[in-house]
Amino acid sequence: MRRIDEIEQLKNELVSTVSHELKTPLATIKAYAATLRQNPELYAEKRDEYLKIVEEQADRLSRLIEDLLLVTRVEAGQLLRRRATVKLDTVLREAIAEIHFDKDRHPITCETDSVSISGDPDRLRDLFRNLIENAIKYSPNGGAIAVRAQSDNGNTRIEITDSGIGIAAEDLPYIFERFFRVESETTSTVGGSGLGLYIVSAIVRAHGGTIEARSEPERGTTFLIVLPNKT
Ligand code: ADP
Repeated sequence: MRRIDEIEQLKNELVSTVSHELKTPLATIKAYAATLRQNPELYAEKRDEYLKIVEEQADRLSRLIEDLLLVTRVEAGQLLRRRATVKLDTVLREAIAEIHFDKDRHPITCETDSVSISGDPDRLRDLFRNLIENAIKYSPNGGAIAVRAQSDNGNTRIEITDSGIGIAAEDLPYIFERFFRVESETTSTVGGSGLGLYIVSAIVRAHGGTIEARSEPERGTTFLIVLPNKT
């Protein structure tokens, strides 16, 4: 495809995804704010519950905007901004701290070797946050999430495993493509732009690593990342 056609296609895809993905959280925020304002009798009882929903939907909007900015950087070849020595356990802890989730429904365990990676700390945090957020999002009935990292022969293998809805074999080859989403009741309920794994795989590649997914529908999914250690 010609570069100009590629850009046109990206623009069209962005406009349709963005308008759809913006509308849902905005409509929810508006509805809950209006309900509270118009029904003062609900204020005492429902305020916390409704404001929590408003906050979650606002988070969803800011994630979408961040993802769009990152996609623009992937396309421009400017994904990495700085390089530093990044301690894996620190970056994992920071990524988890950025996620709002119910720790009782989705207990996360981390077993990591003490290892450092040379990379962009912000992008590495984005990488792990995205994968752990997906693990939570696609485990609607709850379930543990395990992060394991082992280092040998100059590489670190990081596995992120959930026990969620899984991904059918016929969908697996496409999950890292821009805008790809599996069509199912759960995926349409939880929403998403289909940009997360595209950004994730671009971040892994930019750090000289590889990523793959293994999954069994109804049983769960494991993402396996191999990144070179800092030399
Ligand atoms: P989205 O914004 O839809 O979450 P992603 O690019 O992060 O986009 O993921 C692409 C698709 O891959 C998702 O829509 C979902 O169908 C599937 N997927 C990603 N992670 C998981 C997971 N941990 N378990 C089940 N399905 C997943």
